[in-house]
Amino acid sequence: MTIKAFECQMCGHCCHGEGGIVMTGKDQVRLAEYLEISVENLIEKYARERGNKLHLVSKEDGYCVFFKEGCGVHPGRPDVCRAWPYFRGNLVDEISWQMVQDYCPGVNPKAGHAEFVKQGREYLHKEDLLRYDPKTSPNALISEE
Ligand code: SF4
Ligand code: SF4
Repeated sequence: MTIKAFECQMCGHCCHGEGGIVMTGKDQVRLAEYLEISVENLIEKYARERGNKLHLVSKEDGYCVFFKEGCGVHPGRPDVCRAWPYFRGNLVDEISWQMVQDYCPGVNPKAGHAEFVKQGREYLHKEDLLRYDPKTSPNALISEE
């Protein structure tokens, strides 16, 4: 049986941190639809522009504005949230994969890096998370076929 390379443990670490969640145009439309508000409203209430990219704002406690004992907008969450922990750095660099295990308890060290990469690529393909646009996409996402 194949060992799972990642299984979320719901610790919330990846939803904490100032402005790490970049929203692409596709993300904005999906999240606005989920919240039943306009894209303009979404941006005005929940996003800030930095480095020419739109980021979700954080609350005073440092968690994403939508974090409430888990993701409060799970079906509408941005691609970068969907792709984690299968980020470029963790896929191309085994040391990053080892280091991320301290941060994300869902990454299973027993699976090994090669299996993490294999399962990650399969997941990113299946979820259509490989369309990288340098103008709007987070740098963490990969774009290979
Ligand atoms: S850091 Fe990892 S285990 Fe914790 S909530 Fe995020 S994905 Fe899940
Ligand atoms: S949108 Fe959801 S998954 Fe993404 S950082 Fe915010 S609370 Fe976490």
